[in-house]
Amino acid sequence: MTHVIAAPCIADYSCLEICPVNAISPGPLDDAFDEAEQLYINPAVCIDCGACRDVCPVLAISQEKDLPPHWANYAEVNREYFETDV
Ligand code: SF4
Repeated sequence: MTHVIAAPCIADYSCLEICPVNAISPGPLDDAFDEAEQLYINPAVCIDCGACRDVCPVLAISQEKDLPPHWANYAEVNREYFETDV
């Protein structure tokens, strides 16, 4: 199981700073940061601790199983980012 970042993400990266396993990208020092539409969680790295969900100012992060139906595709959006851009 993994957590997923969905549409309201404003890329304020408080989630990235608190993640204990560096599962969230891109960071503010990465080349991709300025053009990123949102931040993404790598499901292969996430340990499902929930720390990022608790600090997100716009409630953009959910456990994959708790994603509302209209954001269900974001599990794939997060997964695909790490398949194509990393
Ligand atoms: S749930 Fe925990 S491990 Fe997974 S991305 Fe969020 S802070 Fe990182």
